[in-house]
Amino acid sequence: MTGPRLRGLLPSTEGTLARCPETLRANELAERLHWFIHTRWIAVLLCLAGMVWALHPPWSHAFGLHVDYRFFLTVTLCLAGTNLIYGRVARQAEQPVPRPLLHRLLRAQVLTDFLNLALLSYGLGGIETPILILFMPHIILSTLFFTRIQSLAMTLAAILCATLPMVLEAAGIIPTVSIVAAGHKALPIGASPVITAGYALAIAGAFLVCWYLVSAITFSLRLRECQLEEAFAQLQLLDQEKSRVTLRATHELKAPFAAIKSYVYALRDGYCGPLPDPARQVVLRIGERCDRLMDKITGIIHLSNLRSASPRTRELTALDLQPLLAREVQEAQLPATPRHITLRLQDAAAPCPILATEELIHTLLSNLLTNAVIYSHDGGAIDVGLEEEPNGWIALWVQDQGIGIPEDQLDRIFTEHFRSNNAVQHNPNGNGLGLALARETVRLLGARIAVQSRPGQGSRFSVHFRHVSGHTEILGPPR
Ligand code: ADP
Repeated sequence: MTGPRLRGLLPSTEGTLARCPETLRANELAERLHWFIHTRWIAVLLCLAGMVWALHPPWSHAFGLHVDYRFFLTVTLCLAGTNLIYGRVARQAEQPVPRPLLHRLLRAQVLTDFLNLALLSYGLGGIETPILILFMPHIILSTLFFTRIQSLAMTLAAILCATLPMVLEAAGIIPTVSIVAAGHKALPIGASPVITAGYALAIAGAFLVCWYLVSAITFSLRLRECQLEEAFAQLQLLDQEKSRVTLRATHELKAPFAAIKSYVYALRDGYCGPLPDPARQVVLRIGERCDRLMDKITGIIHLSNLRSASPRTRELTALDLQPLLAREVQEAQLPATPRHITLRLQDAAAPCPILATEELIHTLLSNLLTNAVIYSHDGGAIDVGLEEEPNGWIALWVQDQGIGIPEDQLDRIFTEHFRSNNAVQHNPNGNGLGLALARETVRLLGARIAVQSRPGQGSRFSVHFRHVSGHTEILGPPR
């Protein structure tokens, strides 16, 4: 059932009904088509096994049954032959297989199966075996493959195939087949037309109820799926629009804000004459706030620029990661020293060439290292290192012994503006953009980022880069 909050977001049922495809999408149908063909080979094997069983009377007679192997043989040959044809047509068709052909192939397959099931159920004594039940899965699949009306037609075909042999037997038009004893049905089919009609009607009723229930559920699920897809597309559009408006507003704020900041600095640095002490304290506080807000503005613009870039729009060159990391560690030492935090860099045994730009690497590493320093306790230690992994990738890690991240918030830290509760307490000044920037950078570099953390014990961020093969010339600052 849809909750009230979700219901408000979903588009109206009537509107979606008109746009919703009546059956599965073409790619899903194609998937089911191949699956259907593969599964039928299992049915062929089972029929073969049935034939072997019927060919050895001691085996079948052990259960008191008399089965004519020719029914199994005919069904095996029919199923295998038609399956080969369907597989061939599907393989040779234009790819992706056009929707009308998919429907034709699926329809033909379901009907072939009905005919084979009719033959097999007749050969196995009709209602004396549970073979008739096998019509049900096909009816269920029909509700997925076809429209409601088409699946109803398939269900009527199933009813016909399941009941016709029974009726013809009862009318004496075809010989009576029984697996119990030749010429005598275990159940009194044929003994009375009323009983035969009753059985046929019961089967028809069961098949129709099955079709009705499953098609109603399939239809409402399909409708819900379409509504969710439409709601998701609308949310994406809204999100894009929101980002565009935020970015425009941020851009418009940047220039006047830079002017305000320079006036505040002019006041603070005494260019407008000496300030009384209380006024100077206020100006200092305004200056700090200006710095933080400016950081946020540039962060938002930077993030938006990275987001709109695609990996191809960046000119990546082969760079050795080791000297770049050493330089970033050196820069991070500056805020770490006053808090007696030690940064320990573990060198890699060999150069670590990756495809990147210095700017992207700076964005990524400076954010990871700044966070490690900020969220460390005073006097703590941070380990940074690089190593080549057995799978040929290069792993870079930054491990601190700081406040850690609560487990239930771990999967949200790469979302822009998100800050964990303990981080807000530890450092109220963050803007929640650093890891979002890191995530976008990693995307543009074709790398992967992962995090492990235990609250109160520390965090380990690792980035995995693709290694550049040895022939490329490696650029980068001297070590
Ligand atoms: P900010 O640090 O400005 O809050 P980030 O995007 O850099 O924003 O980080 C998002 C959140 O991820 C942080 O608020 C914090 O909860 C968590 N986080 C990131 N790095 C660490 C770390 N090294 N240790 C603990 N928490 C971290």
